[in-house]
Amino acid sequence: MNKLLTLALLAAAAFTAQAQSYPGNKPIALVVPFAAGGPTDRVARDLAVAMNKQIPGSNFVVENTVGAGGTLGAIRVAKAAPDGHTLLVWHVGMATTPIMYRKLSYKPLEDFEYLGMINDVPMTLIGKPQLPANTYRDFENYIRANAGKLNLAHAGLGSASHLCGLMWQSAIKLSESMTTIPFNGTGPAMNALLGGQVDVMCDQTTSTTGQIEGGRVKGFAVTTARPMSSHKLLKDYPTLAEMGLKNFNLTIWHGMYAPKGTPAAITKQLNEALQRALKDPEFVKKQEALGALLVTDKRVTPEGHKAFVAAEIDRIRPVFEAAKAYAD
Ligand code: ASP
Repeated sequence: MNKLLTLALLAAAAFTAQAQSYPGNKPIALVVPFAAGGPTDRVARDLAVAMNKQIPGSNFVVENTVGAGGTLGAIRVAKAAPDGHTLLVWHVGMATTPIMYRKLSYKPLEDFEYLGMINDVPMTLIGKPQLPANTYRDFENYIRANAGKLNLAHAGLGSASHLCGLMWQSAIKLSESMTTIPFNGTGPAMNALLGGQVDVMCDQTTSTTGQIEGGRVKGFAVTTARPMSSHKLLKDYPTLAEMGLKNFNLTIWHGMYAPKGTPAAITKQLNEALQRALKDPEFVKKQEALGALLVTDKRVTPEGHKAFVAAEIDRIRPVFEAAKAYAD
């Protein structure tokens, strides 16, 4: 047998052995860079259940590593052993934070293996139950008249709630901004809103739907381009675009990542399992009830996922640079 063929056979045997021995008895940490109870935590917990069904004997466990707009969790995964046992579940922050945090110790397009995107989630503008407004129009008028006295909660600089809050305040051309209050995730921010300690938040529907339905917070509008007409609760809320904020359209995507250098046999296995998990009827149903859609297009592949994040960075960069929205 020639030498090249022997090497190729050895490599193929190593690939198969790696794929067969993974994950072994060790749990697989799904690192969520925000606190428990928020939308990133929600999708990661639903995903863990779906992934456990796909990889026999696996034990996906959510671990919350919080702080600095999600970047501390991302750093943990970028620097973890590339053995498939420490993975990241993160959202649009993968694209916003490299622009806002100019001294990041990792590079989003170089320091991760892309494992595929998970879901797309619209956002909702919500307020504490004590606010004296019940419609979007009254809400906007109330904010206009009182912005200097009101607080907007978010999950840290570069988070989705921060991005949405900035975009909305700029779209309604407030003369005075609300005070922004950062939390380690919108789970704790929601608690502050429920308790009336903060006034307003823009968060993914996966966190807000249940609270709006239960009457614990007031919902005012959704951030999708078109009305959410097939959702039993959110169909009753106007889009910001319908309310006169031309072209307002914000949907938050979430994806899964491994540290750079994770063996191809493992990333392939994870991506294939993710693609099957995204078709798991239970996972689909849970997320749809919360207004989210699991990804079914080419962004489920590692290449499609990475190309999409690269395009998002290019799309967002000029907006943040023009606003000089830097976190350092
Ligand atoms: N929804 C959050 C954000 O605003 C983060 C979280 O998932 O807790 O980015």
